[in-house]
Amino acid sequence: MSSGSSDPRKTYRRATNLVHGGTERTDWQETSEALILTSGYVYDSAEQAQARMAGEEPGYVYGRYNNPTVAMLEERLRLLEGAEACRAMASGMGAMNAILTAPIQQGDRVVGASALFGSCRWLIANQLPKYGVETEFVDGMDMEAWEKALSKPTKLVLVESPANPMLDAVDIKAVADLAHKAGAQLIVDNVFASPVLQSPFELGADWVFYSATKHMDGGGRVLGGMILGPKKDMEEIIDPFIRHSGPCISPFNAWVILKGLETLEIRVERQSETAARLADAMAEHSAVRALRYPGRKDHPHYEVHAKQMRSGGTLIALSLAGGKDAAFRFLNALSLVQISNNLGDVKSLACHPATTTHRALSPEERASMGLDESWVRFSVGLEDADDLMEDVLYALDEANKA
Ligand SMILES: *Cc1c(COP(=O)(O)O)cnc(C)c1O
Repeated sequence: MSSGSSDPRKTYRRATNLVHGGTERTDWQETSEALILTSGYVYDSAEQAQARMAGEEPGYVYGRYNNPTVAMLEERLRLLEGAEACRAMASGMGAMNAILTAPIQQGDRVVGASALFGSCRWLIANQLPKYGVETEFVDGMDMEAWEKALSKPTKLVLVESPANPMLDAVDIKAVADLAHKAGAQLIVDNVFASPVLQSPFELGADWVFYSATKHMDGGGRVLGGMILGPKKDMEEIIDPFIRHSGPCISPFNAWVILKGLETLEIRVERQSETAARLADAMAEHSAVRALRYPGRKDHPHYEVHAKQMRSGGTLIALSLAGGKDAAFRFLNALSLVQISNNLGDVKSLACHPATTTHRALSPEERASMGLDESWVRFSVGLEDADDLMEDVLYALDEANKA
């Protein structure tokens, strides 16, 4: 589609970018994005091989560097977020390792919110200090603590909002301002909200991170990770790191995620609507001691979520009045909802964080996050909302039968 300079069709809105963004066609003119499953490329001549390798002629050189299917995925997400650059990697953690490791050197300082996905926290707490990096964790909602932690020169700041597993908020804009004053770049883990419900770049983030394994695939099939950020840093700092360390994504997995993106908006919007209904019904049940849903006014960080997110999202945290036993009775009584530590899937999934995803933390660390053994994390899928309602209300009744 050619477009003149005054053509209003030059930029598209979110849903359109999710379906068409980044599409390139081979000579076969296929409708659906091609899966180019190849590790290498051939050249017309020795001269062309030389020019490609020297970066003097555009084109692909090796699967560890890039691939046309992967490039389509990267361009689709780049357009969606309005970012300068995007790179896809083999898993969320592969991508997180690249953005946390490539820019840092001995003597740098990295600050993270204390409520982070377990492996992200592990990289900051255990891996970065081995390189001589000073690291610190801050209660994400405590602005005085952020001010104090960011009164010293800092290289990177990592936050997650809503955060695992209690759906805590971080005021992204306020932390971005403090991070920039400290000379730091702010990375936002936007997995729980997805690009549909929260746009961290508009709030001042320098880098946005995704585990594409979650809502982007949405079908529980493949792993993938994405980072978006400034073009210059991506090309000068991130690209050499990923080219030489190898966290490249399989073109097959990239293709699955590319197709997943086509339906991301309608899935996340519907899942979020159903989650809001379920949260309201579960909060009224006598088996529930406390419930946290970013879209409910009784969430302790409601104001911050409400100014950053377009709706409450697909995840709910609930605490059972009868503690761990009741939480297990609830999980075991579910029939439609499956027990699994994954999230963002079209299938509704629930898990017990204290004994699964957050098992590695000490009871003290869990307590500092407000997490005890009474909590269940619930990821709401695409099933009929009434079927889900019947399943969870039945299981809550069972949880009450000590
Ligand atoms: C799953 C997840 C990750 C890690 O992604 P993987 O694809 O599992 O490597 C990071 N952050 C959050 C919030 C996640 O949910």
